[in-house]
Amino acid sequence: MFNKTVISFAISLALWSLLFGSVEIALGFLALLFVHEMGHFFAAKQKNLAVDPPVFTPIGAFIAMKELPASARDEAYMAFGGPLLGTIGAIVALVLGMVLGVPVLVQVSMYAFWLNLFNLIPLAPLDGGRISMAIDRRMWVIGAAVFAYFMFSFGMNGFNLLIGLFIGMQAYQDIQMRKNMAAVQPSYFDVGFNTRLGYAIAYLALGCSCCRWSHTRSGCRACWRAWVCNPGRFSEQPIAVLTRKEVRPCRFCSHSCSSRSS
Ligand SMILES: [Zn+2]
Repeated sequence: MFNKTVISFAISLALWSLLFGSVEIALGFLALLFVHEMGHFFAAKQKNLAVDPPVFTPIGAFIAMKELPASARDEAYMAFGGPLLGTIGAIVALVLGMVLGVPVLVQVSMYAFWLNLFNLIPLAPLDGGRISMAIDRRMWVIGAAVFAYFMFSFGMNGFNLLIGLFIGMQAYQDIQMRKNMAAVQPSYFDVGFNTRLGYAIAYLALGCSCCRWSHTRSGCRACWRAWVCNPGRFSEQPIAVLTRKEVRPCRFCSHSCSSRSS
């Protein structure tokens, strides 16, 4: 049953190892991506939706649905499971990394917080887009702006451009599809006020948590001990590890870190 998961995981591990320049980090990142996907998997099972186990792709992972959810409410439930369990997994990695003193775990948790935050952008096919169907389906307008901001701040290398184009095209199709659905089957989007409010609060709370945990870290990108030894704080997207800008040597391992604002 999980054959495709294992094979696609192995291929992704090879690809992401090249991208991160580290097998350890790629392994940790993909493990936390797996936790995220299993969140969708369990949520779907709870709603009795037939789904396949997660399959990894070069730019992420997905769970194939064999049937459509019955309502925007069920769709949001399944979508919420991923970033919820994914964020819990990232918190576990962060705490373990700090308690056991394993820098790689701290670093991997940051990537995972970013992954979950990115996925919460209210633009389908991203999870946030599906959650927002149960809040207000027109939230994609905000989502499109936030998505553009994310892509802009990641920097436009080939890999990011590929992700941006891929998601952008799917988002366009999804917006058209929802428009039709709202006309043909408006009952799909019938969600009670309390449920809407509940999803809005849970969505904001999870988004703020991911943002808080992913955003500001102090210290070195090489040894990751600087949150102990270096009091200077700077915010930086983890992806920017790949495109170093400003030089700041670490007191611990004398590695030169980059920072966007220090
Ligand atoms: Zn997801």
